[in-house]
Amino acid sequence: MANYTPMMQQYLSVKAQHQDAFLFFRLGDFYELFFDDAVRAARELEITLTGRDGGASEKIPMCGVPYHSVDTYISQLIDKGYKVAICEQVEDPKQAKGVVRREVTRVITPGTVMEGKFLTDKENNYLLSVYMGKNAAALAACDISTGEFYVTEVAGLQPLLDEIIQYQPSEVVIVEGQGDTVVMEHLHPHNIVVTKRPLPEGSAAAGAPLAALQQWFSEVNGEKECTGQMLAATGGLLSYLEETQKRSLGHLHRVQLYEAASYMVLDQFTRRNLELVETIRDKTKKGSLLWLLDQTVTAMGGRQLRRWLDKPLLAKSEVEERQQAVQTMLDSWLVRDEIRTQLKDVYDLERLAGRVAYGTASARDLIQLKSSLVAIPALKQALLTLADASQAIKEVAGRLDECSDVVEIIEHSIVDDPPLAMKEGGLIKEGYHEYLDKLRTASREGKQWIAGLEQQERQVTGIRSLKIGYNKVFGYYIEVTKANLPALPEGRYERKQTLANAERFITPELKEKEALILEAEEKRSELEYQLFTEVREAVSSQVQRLQALALQVATIDVLQSLAVVAQEHGYVRPEIISSGQLEISDGRHPVVESVLTEDPFVPNDTQMGSDQEILLITGPNMAGKSTYMRQVALIVIMAQMGSFVPAEAARITPVDRIFTRIGAADDLVGGQSTFMVEMKEIEVTLRNANSRSLVIIDELGRGTSTSEGMSIAQAVIEYLHHDIGCKTLVSTHYHELFHLETTLPRLKNFHMAVNESDDTVIFLRKLVNGPADKSYGIYCAQIAGLPERIIDRANELLDEYDGPAANPVKEVKQERPRKIEAEKVTEPPAQLDLFGEFIEPAKTGKSVATLSKAEEKLAKKLREADLINMTPLQAMNFLFELKQHV
Ligand code: ATP
Repeated sequence: MANYTPMMQQYLSVKAQHQDAFLFFRLGDFYELFFDDAVRAARELEITLTGRDGGASEKIPMCGVPYHSVDTYISQLIDKGYKVAICEQVEDPKQAKGVVRREVTRVITPGTVMEGKFLTDKENNYLLSVYMGKNAAALAACDISTGEFYVTEVAGLQPLLDEIIQYQPSEVVIVEGQGDTVVMEHLHPHNIVVTKRPLPEGSAAAGAPLAALQQWFSEVNGEKECTGQMLAATGGLLSYLEETQKRSLGHLHRVQLYEAASYMVLDQFTRRNLELVETIRDKTKKGSLLWLLDQTVTAMGGRQLRRWLDKPLLAKSEVEERQQAVQTMLDSWLVRDEIRTQLKDVYDLERLAGRVAYGTASARDLIQLKSSLVAIPALKQALLTLADASQAIKEVAGRLDECSDVVEIIEHSIVDDPPLAMKEGGLIKEGYHEYLDKLRTASREGKQWIAGLEQQERQVTGIRSLKIGYNKVFGYYIEVTKANLPALPEGRYERKQTLANAERFITPELKEKEALILEAEEKRSELEYQLFTEVREAVSSQVQRLQALALQVATIDVLQSLAVVAQEHGYVRPEIISSGQLEISDGRHPVVESVLTEDPFVPNDTQMGSDQEILLITGPNMAGKSTYMRQVALIVIMAQMGSFVPAEAARITPVDRIFTRIGAADDLVGGQSTFMVEMKEIEVTLRNANSRSLVIIDELGRGTSTSEGMSIAQAVIEYLHHDIGCKTLVSTHYHELFHLETTLPRLKNFHMAVNESDDTVIFLRKLVNGPADKSYGIYCAQIAGLPERIIDRANELLDEYDGPAANPVKEVKQERPRKIEAEKVTEPPAQLDLFGEFIEPAKTGKSVATLSKAEEKLAKKLREADLINMTPLQAMNFLFELKQHV
């Protein structure tokens, strides 16, 4: 073994404790990395790899980053899923005997970052710990930046995985138990940093005996029972935090035990398929339901909205309470506007409180905290005007703690616009501390004396260009240009520095004053920092109140956001019922509707219940089946989270789970959708669904041969009908399945209407009774731009397979979707007279056949136009569009 220098030996012993992290080892103004860490970090951070003599025969690989810009490098490594251990000098190098003592002061991991720049405002950053026992699994989740802490227990592996995915954690600690490797394997594709740890001794956090942890649980959760699994998961989480953070985390006190079964369960496939928080294609928030619903003003509100969406409610009364609050906000837009204005002044209270408790809040953070709190009384006032209309708002308003004592502490002590640097003074207000004021006066007077000295010296020496300056290295000096040097009297002036054109001097009096000023300033900065930390600690003792306030503010923000969205998009308040029925009149897909720019969205009804449990929706392609089925699921989710819904009216019995199976042909899973995945999704559905669930199956059995696929589809539908009895929407291109209506009494056939004339197909996007007779797949291929030869050949082959009668339409036109009642589809088209006016066929006596194609198209457009629901501007646009075709 090499004969390493004492410092390298120190490095190696620290590194041995932190094998899985990059060790940032503080040396003066740099953090250095050595050996393998250096080689990897140089590559990851694109910094120069050098070497250092450390007692070995060869140079030790080394790279380093300046301490003042270390955050940038750390965040790059954290982003890539690494951990970083920060090793600081923990004694003054001047006082050290031998090697300066160094210790790891904190390990930063993806799940434990606190700094604002590593975090996204409207997203939580969860660190999870999970433990699988013999019969149950437990999960503890915390966001140390906000202080949230949740604990739950679930029945087994799949519910555990669903629960994990719902948090979208950046890091998971797996406490060794049953099946821990299986959990690890499942998490692998999700790009989550996973650390495996042994079961904490006695099923409790290392060092914290079981009883203490139990006590901790009972203190925060009263009577709620905490199981051994929960203790293991929580203990695992706490011991990991203890090891990495090396400080007390006083803000993690709000442990919330919850039962996953009190909320609607949405498994990972369903969350993804319904694009609740991100789109499938590019994994961005834009285009998701969360994006549409998010009109929150504060970061806390944004995160709370996401939690509501993640966990829709089951209890009618709880949903109604939220609805009532949204209704109240909707009805009083003036107050709502005032609430939004006040919320704009509220910073991220939760994370500010977190940083205060963690001990990293800056003076600017405290000022942000103060200005947020200052906005609370007006917010409360606005809410109180609504209190009579909504119990929920009344309660929230009543619980709003203005924390005026905290405002006072900060107002009294911290200057309004403090500097970024924390240790150079300028933080504390005059009049706050007597001795500090004295030091201030001393340095101010000293500076005034020096300012006066310049005048005095000019007079004494007669050198008019003489000036007094200051720099950090040499301190105060008297500067005289070389040309004036002869005029300087001998004796009193001691040379300090020589420049190209001038000499700098010091005099005994200046030296004395300088010492006084510098001492006063140093003491002042130290004292200011000390006073600041005292203020921070005083605020920290109120952290629980701040967190409670943050939660109330977040709730208000979500309620107003839902009201704004309801107003903007014309949503209605759904009635929550318990009869088992699901009735939606003129429902719309909230996101598709909002992104359609030219065409209006065509609404559709839904009727499901004990007599009509399964809707079997056949053909055609591109007609809007997937959109329709998803819209039903989204409306149910929105209703159960307390939101209003995109429909004319809705009566909804809460569902306990939603399952979705989305066809491989939709390519919605980024190429992963093989037949196995399809079968797995179906298996999860069939194993877990019950009569209170909603199941969406968009294409079934398409990843295998037609006969096998169709057989599987039929068997699954029969099973859902006979054995589960849940509400189910199934779309299929196996038209042969429509006969099921005759054998399954609670199954009804539907299809999406198309308007088909000699050579055109118009998708009407309207759900109508009965099965479809064909899929129009070739026509979709044509729209997609497949070469004409292929289309012709496909038509030829189709004629061979099905006979020419099955394929009468050779050309398809994708027209603007419009709302057409099913019966109107068969009406004879109107026509244009010589003056371009539309005349009903009966009045003209002209036969339909005499109309030109263009006339027919125009007539059809006019006939289908929903004038009643058009705005004047839409009507103008419509007229303009018609004119283009004349
Ligand atoms: P396929 O069977 O080929 O998967 P599909 O019947 O499931 O097709 P969708 O994917 O639901 O069809 O719809 C196709 C497109 O039609 C959507 O992207 C949307 O832009 C539009 N669309 C669907 N429904 C409506 C509607 N009700 N109103 C207006 N446009 C709609």
